Amino acid sequence: MAWPDGTGRAVGTPLQPSVVYGAESPDALDAIYEGRETGFTYAREAHPNAALLAAKVDALEGLSGGIATGSGMAAVSCAIMGLVEAGDHVIGGDQLYGRSLRMMTDELPRMGVATTRVDPTNAAAVKAAIRPETKLILVEVVSNPTLRIADIDGIAAVAKEAGILLVVDNTFTTPRGIRPARHGADIVIHSVTKLLAGHSDATLGYVCATDPALNERMRVFAVTLGLTASPFDCWLAERGIFTFEMRYDRAEASAALLADHIADLPGVTKVLYPGRADHPDHARAQTLLKGRNGNMVTFEVAGGREAANRLVRAAPNIAFAPTLGDVATTLSHPATSSHRGLTPEGRAELGLSEGSFRVSVGMEPPELLCAEFEAAIRAAQG
Ligand SMILES: *Cc1c(COP(=O)(O)O)cnc(C)c1O
Repeated sequence: MAWPDGTGRAVGTPLQPSVVYGAESPDALDAIYEGRETGFTYAREAHPNAALLAAKVDALEGLSGGIATGSGMAAVSCAIMGLVEAGDHVIGGDQLYGRSLRMMTDELPRMGVATTRVDPTNAAAVKAAIRPETKLILVEVVSNPTLRIADIDGIAAVAKEAGILLVVDNTFTTPRGIRPARHGADIVIHSVTKLLAGHSDATLGYVCATDPALNERMRVFAVTLGLTASPFDCWLAERGIFTFEMRYDRAEASAALLADHIADLPGVTKVLYPGRADHPDHARAQTLLKGRNGNMVTFEVAGGREAANRLVRAAPNIAFAPTLGDVATTLSHPATSSHRGLTPEGRAELGLSEGSFRVSVGMEPPELLCAEFEAAIRAAQG
């Protein structure tokens, strides 16, 4: 991808932290504002590192005109708050990322936007939730941490028939797993923080609509609310994307090995991985995701919180941290992090207990990873 203003001669991408850009003349400034010339004026509006990052994610998604935002949640905000009005209704998946769920339950109602949560594995349930004032549907392809796979094709058909925007958060699945726009999504979102940037050192998002007018609306919203991205973070993420596909493939292959390895260990009561035949959405993962089953594995050990504490203490080389998509494997415990807001009964309804863990598999040699988890799982059983 070429450096946007054509001045870059270095092989490495230049980092441009400047907040302001001088113009040659009022005529030249006019030309930039009217889009007749490419150029930059003020970093909150646009800057080269953000433009380059957005173009790279565009290329991965097969889209154009995407916007780099200061976080994944800034991208969600652009797509939802940037496009709805008081009186509208929004449908969201019932297992969305925690903060997206908070937007549905707290922020949107506060602004006069009604919301409904539905199970996105069931397109008929989505259809039944549609009202005359429904404006958009937000779903993630794979739910966290239960790894259920949404019926994207079914929901896209329902949304199209009703003239409703379909917004797909593709953070977990990435363009390696699915390009949602090819399945009828109107808007695609990423937390670039996760697999795309890949090193847990940049907080960023990306949002892009297939309709240029919607992109323009979201861009104005992002600039007005100050949701735009930092040059340094964009620079880091753009560098990370050079290895994204290799990282994804490696992590996915290791995740498949790890899931099978731990499934047979004593004390393991459940393993969820879309590549396994016992996963409830195994068939859909093979058709919709073409067998790109991802780098996330969820499992449960017997023995509740005590066993969970022992497991984490016995895995000193695995970061116990509620994130995903890093080059290093990370382990999260939904009951004390992403799902701590639910009651034990609410978690049980999702099939989660104090013994449930989610692994985001990284780049370590898979045999070391399997050995580390095996030792920790054995230690958990006391
Ligand atoms: C992390 C995440 C987000 C939010 O991204 P941030 O960069 O942390 O703001 C949104 N959706 C999903 C699926 C995520 O995993």
